[in-house]
Amino acid sequence: MYLRYSYRIYPTSGQCASLARTFGCARVVYNDALAARKEARKAGRPYPKSTDLQKLVITGAKKTAERAWLASVGVDPLIQSLRDLDTAYRNFFDSVSGKRAGRPVGLPRFKSKRDNHQSLRFTRNGFRVRGNGKLNLAKIGDVRVKWSRALPADPSSVTIVLDPSGRYHASFVVDVEPSHLPEVDAEVGIDLGLTTYAVLSDGTVIDNPRFLRKAEKKLKAAQRELSRKAKGSKNRAKARIKVAKAHAKVADTRMDWLHKQTTKLIGETQAVYLEDLNVRGLARGRLAKSVHDAGWATFRRLLEEKAARYGRTVGVVHRAFPSSQLCSACGHRDGPKPPAVREWACGACGVLHDRDLNAARNILAAGQADRLNAPGGPVSPGVAIPRRARPVERGTRLGDPPRTDVRATGAGGVPVL
Ligand SMILES: [Zn+2]
Repeated sequence: MYLRYSYRIYPTSGQCASLARTFGCARVVYNDALAARKEARKAGRPYPKSTDLQKLVITGAKKTAERAWLASVGVDPLIQSLRDLDTAYRNFFDSVSGKRAGRPVGLPRFKSKRDNHQSLRFTRNGFRVRGNGKLNLAKIGDVRVKWSRALPADPSSVTIVLDPSGRYHASFVVDVEPSHLPEVDAEVGIDLGLTTYAVLSDGTVIDNPRFLRKAEKKLKAAQRELSRKAKGSKNRAKARIKVAKAHAKVADTRMDWLHKQTTKLIGETQAVYLEDLNVRGLARGRLAKSVHDAGWATFRRLLEEKAARYGRTVGVVHRAFPSSQLCSACGHRDGPKPPAVREWACGACGVLHDRDLNAARNILAAGQADRLNAPGGPVSPGVAIPRRARPVERGTRLGDPPRTDVRATGAGGVPVL
């Protein structure tokens, strides 16, 4: 299975300049190829093949006066940029034909110099990790890396990302052998809390950590400051960098925390069941902030990746499942409740429920039922393939929204009692 390992890197000012040049060239190659494909379509010609495109916008273009500067950067990231365009088209066609689930994917668009994230990918020919720990990138040089954890195997590619706060990261794709942990009995259902982060069916409450709230407060202060600066002023530019840095801090802190929580959960339980929240839909509505902040989609992705790696199961309960309406004790459907109602007594059996805990218990029961009812018997461990960690993928932005996975949802979940 492919996993992604990211590290902060510290290019020298000369290397930053080379990287900037390469970002620019990769963008031009991408845009030229996109223009060529659009032109072919307009003229009613078949789409040019990848090899022909490569000749046209890289090898051939280098010999022209307007694109001679393409020769000053490594060819590998330019070819990868073309691959990204291929992937973007494939995603579009798969989305149109219904082969690809999730939100509709539009036609590829031209890249702009002002894009928030810049990225470059190098394959095996374009990079290597030196004995002294530096990362050698073709035509860029040896870049210092902060190895926050060890790479488990030789990486097959590396993506260099520049984020809006001016930080560089190297994101390696590594093929890792799954190593299944010894089996345990515990299984849990998880309900996404709104007052707390999440509640587990065994009564454990995962709370939003204070350090994260603190980082978020700083971010808000920086945003307020930015809104007060005059447009186009130097102070505004400074304030904008401050906001980007605060953003990065929040994102890093949250990621770190999510990693810790998901590692613990996967280590201690054999199966984890979640509700398939339509995060994208929710995010447009009133719940926008809480859902975004909860980082729920990332939480789920990390659980799925770790489950696949360690031989655990992640089950997703269909989103129409009324987890907050059913009584987890007797199965009575008590009707919808406004979000403000934190506790309720079952109209049939009288048991007093904590809203979130009751929901978590229902999710556990529904998930287990789905698993038993799934065609071909119980879902085997490791069904979750980390979709983001494939070796060839669309733009590898750090903050890319996760894709919606295709999966059988089983019987849609009425708890078995
Ligand atoms: Zn009841």
